[in-house]
Amino acid sequence: MAQVLIIEDDDRIRPLLMRSLRERGYAVSSAPTGMAGLSMAVDHRPDLVILDLGLPDVDGTQVLSMLRAVSDVPVIIASARDDDPSLVKALDAGADDYVVKPYTTAQLEARIRAVMRRADSSKSPRRSLVVGGLEIDVAARRTTLDGVELDLSPREFDLLVHLAERAGDVVTKRELLTDVWHQAWGGSDKTVDVHLSWLRRKLGESASQPRYLITVRGVGVRLAAPDP
Ligand code: CA
Repeated sequence: MAQVLIIEDDDRIRPLLMRSLRERGYAVSSAPTGMAGLSMAVDHRPDLVILDLGLPDVDGTQVLSMLRAVSDVPVIIASARDDDPSLVKALDAGADDYVVKPYTTAQLEARIRAVMRRADSSKSPRRSLVVGGLEIDVAARRTTLDGVELDLSPREFDLLVHLAERAGDVVTKRELLTDVWHQAWGGSDKTVDVHLSWLRRKLGESASQPRYLITVRGVGVRLAAPDP
């Protein structure tokens, strides 16, 4: 069942929308403010967000920018007017589609289906990442190093995938806390350091003699194939 998060402050629209989407088979949650919606989007990881632009605390466009910093979740904007300049801003900021109020549930649902279809088709079913002798089968969650399977914890695996997707680039600890631990705010660098040291051990290397995991002091860490 697809999870939909509605961020909408209007006390008449919100319950109506929740009910009609539930009747159509969606699991629905809602938030009446931008900040509450943002934290729900981060914590509950919905499949789709319906975002009102006129919110009491933070402008919907800002909510979207903050959300985009941590998530690729499809977002449909609900706007009061189709010539609303903030609507253009929202689309530029990464909204996937929009509906203009008043809209019917049928219109909205058509947009939901289209946006989710696009999101699904962009996920490739099988992805394999190769960095030197490291081979990561993302879907099967299996990793081999020089043909030997590694026994990684779920977190170590996620960490490795994240670094392998950006192989050769320095990734900051803040970015890792956001993308691997889903702590966009707060969280401790220590957590990252500890997991990196475990991962390093499983890769058969040490901080003083790194091969794949290179620490860039004061910045972050880089995964790269060792020099032959
Ligand atoms: Ca509103």
